[in-house]
Amino acid sequence: MEIRIEKTAAPKAKPADETKLGFGHIFTDHMFVMNYDTGEGWHDARIVPYGEISLSPAAMCLHYGQEIFEGLKAYRTADGSIQMFRPDENFKRMNVSAERMVIPPIDEAFVLEALKKLVDMEKDWVPHTDGASLYIRPFIFATDPYVGVRPADHYLFMIILSPSGAYYSTGLNPVKIYVEEKYVRAVRGGTGFAKTAANYAISLKGQDEAHNQDYEQVLWLDGVEQKYIEEVGSMNIFFVIDGEVITPQLTGSVLPGITRKSSIELCKKWGMKVTERRITIQEVAEAYDNGKLDEVFGTGTAAVISPVGHLKWGDKVMTINDNKIGEISQKLYDTMTGIQYGKLPDEMNWIVRV
Ligand SMILES: *Cc1c(COP(=O)(O)O)cnc(C)c1O
Repeated sequence: MEIRIEKTAAPKAKPADETKLGFGHIFTDHMFVMNYDTGEGWHDARIVPYGEISLSPAAMCLHYGQEIFEGLKAYRTADGSIQMFRPDENFKRMNVSAERMVIPPIDEAFVLEALKKLVDMEKDWVPHTDGASLYIRPFIFATDPYVGVRPADHYLFMIILSPSGAYYSTGLNPVKIYVEEKYVRAVRGGTGFAKTAANYAISLKGQDEAHNQDYEQVLWLDGVEQKYIEEVGSMNIFFVIDGEVITPQLTGSVLPGITRKSSIELCKKWGMKVTERRITIQEVAEAYDNGKLDEVFGTGTAAVISPVGHLKWGDKVMTINDNKIGEISQKLYDTMTGIQYGKLPDEMNWIVRV
């Protein structure tokens, strides 16, 4: 499929102060768009000026939430080249999400080529500051003007780009996490493994209550017994207990993070003991009481590695590793960001150059 290119006549000024980029409010000059219509398949791939889209008020995505998305980044290396971290994994996962949400599959190789073309066009938007990057958001949603429940016949696939500041401006600050016991994020047979808007919509209430108690994030327990640890909203979670690296196994209600997968692969490569299994919050609390809970950290594209300093479960507040980043968390962070910014050799073959 050809990609039609329409360049903007009014390019925007690039942000002058990269320390003030923040996350998710600035968008570049162009976006990728492609339509799907039943009978025709995906068609009319184009890169056009970034701008508003027109949608029927009856568009199905607005009423029944048929939507999926992805999140990844492009990085500028010291020699000025632009590269991405495992983008093929994002499009592979997007098709897994699509299958669950009855959205037609995309051609993974084609959309990766389209993304490369878009990022190349927008390469001057990729920040220069260490730790800053160009956040990439591919997404698909149903557009049929129909207020009835069924899988749609018409979709839009879009990619928008947002220059984003360093997640950590003052070093890797440990986060405060709260174990959610009232609400659940995903249930057996549900959509936990899919990257879909609905999973976030239902997580907002727990997040809001955590914020009211001065906690930054929510640690979700399984939706059936509320005993087993699942993940942290937009991050997967790891525990280091007595030297062993443990992360909840992918049971269908946990999002299969690419940073999670990469962390497991690196720890294995380093000869560490890594286990994917079910783990209860009770077991973590007992390890803490016995002085065996060495480290807790979250993994996700935005933060890469996010050390957990405080973990609150009911009335119990666990302070992990003196509220300091642990050795394994630091090593994973340094290695992964080193590969992403081209400072370390890409021994795992994770980098795709633009
Ligand atoms: C995207 C996401 C993650 C992290 O996945 P990465 O591929 O590592 O960025 C974890 N949990 C949820 C719910 C997510 O949506």
